[in-house]
Amino acid sequence: MSEQVEQLSCQELVELVTDYLEGALPEEEHLRFEDHISRCDACTIYIEQIRQTIAVAGRLPEDALSPEAERELLEAFRGWHSA
Ligand SMILES: [Zn+2]
Repeated sequence: MSEQVEQLSCQELVELVTDYLEGALPEEEHLRFEDHISRCDACTIYIEQIRQTIAVAGRLPEDALSPEAERELLEAFRGWHSA
């Protein structure tokens, strides 16, 4: 068995995004986060959209990370991955 670091799933990434954008993730988590983004188009686009939203609104809107928004997002991801 390898001792490879377990990769983040898209769902874990979504759950960590607020901490990531606030610079609140521990270094190891931060690296795993960026590693995931580097190989996942859907999450790259998701992060870009959130960054743009923050740039426009000046802050992260509450509803951007509501459970409903998360679920829609994850369903969109599944569509991407099976395409
Ligand atoms: Zn992803």
